[in-house]
This record gives sequence, C-alpha cells and structure tokens, in this order.
Amino acid sequence: LNKQPTAFAQLVEDTLETYEQGLLEKRILLKTELNPEIISYIDEDRMRQVIHNVMDNAIRYTPEGGTISVVLLQQEKMCVLRISDTGKGIPAHHVQRLGERFYRVDKARSRQNGGTGLGLAIVKQIVEVHGGALCITSKEDQGTTIAITLPMAE
Ligand code: ATP
Ligand code: MG
Repeated sequence: LNKQPTAFAQLVEDTLETYEQGLLEKRILLKTELNPEIISYIDEDRMRQVIHNVMDNAIRYTPEGGTISVVLLQQEKMCVLRISDTGKGIPAHHVQRLGERFYRVDKARSRQNGGTGLGLAIVKQIVEVHGGALCITSKEDQGTTIAITLPMAE
C-alpha cells in the first residue's frame, strides 16, 4: 500500500471523467459536490479502483434517466466520499452481505448484467486497509448510497 497525501477532489474528478460516455449513453445525470481542500492519506491507484467499482455499479444498476450524485466532504478528522444513485436499490436483507466475495443479489438478473460479485468486496477491503469504513444504505426501487470514510493527511 502506497499511502500519500492526496488532493482527493482532483482524483475523484479525474476518475469521473472516464464515465462521460457511459453516463451519456444511459442519459444519467451526474451531480458533483467536491470540497477541493481535502487532502486525504490514500493509495491513489487503489482509490481509483474503489471509485471505479462503485461508479460501475451505480451506472449498471441505475435505469435510464436516473441521477448519480458524488459528494466529498470533511467530517471531523476524516473525509467522506458519498456516491448515491436513483437505481433499483438493494433489498435490506442483502445489504449486510454485500462485502462478501462473489455475493450477488439476483443471480439471474445479475448474470445478464455481467459482473462477478467481487466489486464491493474489493472496495471494502481497500477501504479497511486504509483505516477507513464502508457504509451501504439502500432502499428498493429508490436507490443506493455508498459512503466511504477515509483518513485525512496530518
Ligand atoms: P462485479 O462488480 O464484480 O463486476 P457485481 O457488480 O455483481 O460484479 P458487486 O459490485 O460486489 O458485484 O455488487 C454486488 C451486488 O450488489 C450486485 O450484483 C448488485 O445486485 C448489487 N448492487 C451493487 N451496487 C448496486 C447499486 N448501486 N444499485 C443496486 N444494486 C447494486
Ligand atoms: Mg460491481
């Protein structure tokens, strides 16, 4: 793990740029609100992977015309990256198992959507080795919010 003080908003913005085409194709509106002053203590490459896995889900599981919002803010001595979508959501009894490897909600539906069920398990692992936390909240047919708490640089 190569943790460095990192301008997090810039990293998030750079990563989000790679989804322009995918968002356009599904007519998904992207809203961002990123505090530019946050310097987090993270491994850049791993954190790009985290953002990628969460964004990939948000786009894949949100129907056309939906909205994805990405917020970065400071909360006491940590920073929080919150990615919310207006997608199909996840039934409550599944949410707690989402950090498990290969766990998928609806195997038939998921198969046709591609994917292996590793995305969020990788997110959880990377966030936890940073001393951070992953929090998933979701409501069926309303949407999902992935909140990632990470340490700030000293
Ligand atoms: P992979 O990410 O490995 O390609 P995956 O997307 O199925 O495959 P995860 O990213 O770990 O695996 O997600 C696990 C399951 O949680 C998904 O199969 C999907 O059913 C559900 N899920 C994840 N994110 C969302 C979301 N934003 N909205 C609705 N369901 C979601
Ligand atoms: Mg995924």
